[in-house]
Amino acid sequence: MTKDKIREELNKLNETSNMSDIQNYIKCMLKENNYNNTPLELLCYLTEEVGELAKEIRKHESNMEMDINKKYSSNIKDELADVFIYVLTIADKYNIDLLDALKRKETINLERTWE
Ligand SMILES: [Mg+2]
Repeated sequence: MTKDKIREELNKLNETSNMSDIQNYIKCMLKENNYNNTPLELLCYLTEEVGELAKEIRKHESNMEMDINKKYSSNIKDELADVFIYVLTIADKYNIDLLDALKRKETINLERTWE
């Protein structure tokens, strides 16, 4: 039942979904899964996912050495999604509207001068 409910909510998301729709999906998914990690635990998971994303990008973009005997089965798209899910989960934990946060911070960033 839980996975059916999550799948049902996930299937409502599409290319016209907005940030609120996405955040509502995450809220539902977390509730259905009884997901109740602390912010510090979530930060650890997010950091781990950022590391996995770094490895995927390194695979594609650098000449840095990789273990040629290890099978790497992930990809940048999946790791970006993992990072996004944890960002959304942390936002949910603090009841942060991410669209509002993005607009507010980008407004501040536009006032910065980089040299
Ligand atoms: Mg991952």
